Amino acid sequence: MNIIRAKHGGVCVGVERAIRMALEAAEKWKHVYSLGPLIHNRVAVEDLRKKGIITVDKLNKVKNKKVIIRSHGAHPTVLDRLKKQGFTIIDATCPRVRRAQRYVEKLIAEGYYVIIVGQRDHPEVKGLLGYAHNKAEIYSDKIRITRRKIGVVPQTTLDIEHFNAAVAHLMTDVLEMKIYNTICHETIVRIKEAKKIAKKADVMIVVGGKNSANTTKLYQICKKSKPSYHIEFPDEVSPEWFTGVKSIGITAGASTPKDQVDSVEKHLRKIFPK
Ligand code: SF4
Repeated sequence: MNIIRAKHGGVCVGVERAIRMALEAAEKWKHVYSLGPLIHNRVAVEDLRKKGIITVDKLNKVKNKKVIIRSHGAHPTVLDRLKKQGFTIIDATCPRVRRAQRYVEKLIAEGYYVIIVGQRDHPEVKGLLGYAHNKAEIYSDKIRITRRKIGVVPQTTLDIEHFNAAVAHLMTDVLEMKIYNTICHETIVRIKEAKKIAKKADVMIVVGGKNSANTTKLYQICKKSKPSYHIEFPDEVSPEWFTGVKSIGITAGASTPKDQVDSVEKHLRKIFPK
């Protein structure tokens, strides 16, 4: 069995930075609270909890007024509320997400109506909308543009092909369009490599949290080429997947810790020793 593992799978620099900042804060204050999981991966979140990084869903559950902002960033009203209520904010917004937020602000200041291309319920997209002060909406293929001048900003983890299709669609209705391509390089290389491996391999294994948007996206992309399985743990692997298979591809989302991918690879190599 040939096992091909993606070089670019695993935790991205933005999530890595947020974890580092949270660990430093937890060391200083014993506990730090994250509004929603710091990383979309159950194993990693549980590990971080043991180290003092507590996930909460509401501000009133924060016991020591120390809050970390996740790499996705936050809606500006959340930041304002935290400041007004005297919270200490550890802002781990990924610099690349921050740059996208600044572009949205810039477009609004220049009089553009902003279209954000991304997942409606994703915290990063909700945050970007917040920076547009209600002068924006989220792209959908049913969108009807009545403005002549629009600015377009993609979610940092968007597939470039999806973005290109959205831009082409929007172009038909507007006179002027300003585009900031904020798709993160980490996303581009992961998707590109996953597509390449999926062409060579007979089956793809995508490792990462079921609640991770970018891992799910990678899985959907791989599924277009080859039978693919999205798993979190090695014990989810089923031997039936590999009947008649000669090569297996492994990739992982931007929120999957390296040791989780290692454990899946190790498990597969145990089933299929050289
Ligand atoms: S995928 Fe890119 S933009 Fe998003 S958190 Fe990671 S490094 Fe930052």
